[in-house]
Amino acid sequence: MNKTILIASSNQNKIKEFKKILPDYHFISLKDINDFEDIDEDGETFEANSYLKAKHYFDKHKIPTLADDSGLEIEVLNNEPGILSKRYSGLGDHENNLLVLRNLKNKENRNARFRCVLTYIDVSGKVIVFEGTINGKIAYEIKGEEGFGYDPIFLIESENKTLAELGSIYKNKHSHRAQVLIKFKEYLEKNENINNK
Ligand code: IMP
Repeated sequence: MNKTILIASSNQNKIKEFKKILPDYHFISLKDINDFEDIDEDGETFEANSYLKAKHYFDKHKIPTLADDSGLEIEVLNNEPGILSKRYSGLGDHENNLLVLRNLKNKENRNARFRCVLTYIDVSGKVIVFEGTINGKIAYEIKGEEGFGYDPIFLIESENKTLAELGSIYKNKHSHRAQVLIKFKEYLEKNENINNK
């Protein structure tokens, strides 16, 4: 049995990552079912936002649904931009990166992490929450072409490269989203009788 799971997102980059990390599952996106509704992500935490998205679309479509919320937390900025990651500058990804670099000018502590919270609502309406993180440093300049968002300024120290330089093979193994999806996969294999071949 190959079970269908709705990804409550219209972010194509994310959907690509989900499908690459869990190739044996049958994911559909909101776009696939012609749902173009955009809901307000007005929660105050990643947990609240991922829950409100999963619950909204599960109630609407009655399909097992997962939704994630993620972002960048920078230690010396009291975990900003956090839930504001997407709209930090109000002007887009590149400007967000420039704003982070500006806010960290002359700061020695460059510790940061990406955090991802995923809420899954199964066919019975049961809610399960997973969390994944990846630690890194904020680079001093923008580097690399791959990925999206803050990837060009997120430095993996052991590799001395940003996530945008390391690319999707590295990211799909080590990222906050990869971590959360590995936990999600383990959960499904243990708790739901899915032969995902
Ligand atoms: P959301 O989970 O789609 O709300 O993501 C919020 C924002 O966090 C994105 O628009 C990006 O700015 C940032 N973000 C989340 N995940 C990543 C990632 O894997 N790489 C770079 N930026 C990310």
